[in-house]
Amino acid sequence: MLGYPIKRICTQLLGDMHVRDWYAAEDDGRYLPDTCRPYCTRCGASIGSEAVTKKGCAFCLNHPIHWQRIIRVGAYEPPLSHWVLNLKFHHGWRWGQMLGELLSPHIAKLDMDVDRTVLCPVPMHWYRRWERGYNQAQLIADQVSRQVHLPVMPLLKRNRYTPAQTRVVPSQRTVNVSQSVTHRNMDLTGWTVILIDDVKTSGATMNNCCRQLKKMGCRNIIAAVLAVADPKHDDFMSIDTLTETRPK
Ligand SMILES: [Zn+2]
Repeated sequence: MLGYPIKRICTQLLGDMHVRDWYAAEDDGRYLPDTCRPYCTRCGASIGSEAVTKKGCAFCLNHPIHWQRIIRVGAYEPPLSHWVLNLKFHHGWRWGQMLGELLSPHIAKLDMDVDRTVLCPVPMHWYRRWERGYNQAQLIADQVSRQVHLPVMPLLKRNRYTPAQTRVVPSQRTVNVSQSVTHRNMDLTGWTVILIDDVKTSGATMNNCCRQLKKMGCRNIIAAVLAVADPKHDDFMSIDTLTETRPK
């Protein structure tokens, strides 16, 4: 048990240097990934400007999606994918701050009633949180909250430990997360919830969360993520595996 506080202190100190170095080296501190990359506002997939309709794009037309729209920082590709991996597995606190800063402007642009809008991180099971030391979605949400002045509310909770989605084949991801999330006893009628996570792959986790938010009366849910994995690569390499090969 003593190892975790010590590990936290060390990674906090080292993380400062690591984040600064990465951010400067990768893109001279000016990362603007989506300035010329249109994406589907229903599923978040990168698309051509002519390929999307109000009902979605070729990737999502026949897929049930329970949020009203999605916003993202960029596609799940370098350098953003490297930064997300660092957030998940190395020095999460500082990376959460930096990546939250990248997501905040996208949320600030939304047309919303700020008095009836809350941020909700995708929940993490207590055991995984203990293993990792933090919930990366919570770190992102906290930083977004500081920048756009919306409250963070833990509306959902994980009641069942499930394998990481990246360890499960896409066809089994909905089953993997079904009934693993429950909601708190609150009435969200008339409220907008911005559901925050680090990466969207199949969308099963976020759809599961949205179903619970709808049970609370929420009818306007916006998914906000750092990165969206390319749906053409359903078997994209596990994020856990990528940590072993990420650039140093
Ligand atoms: Zn789409």
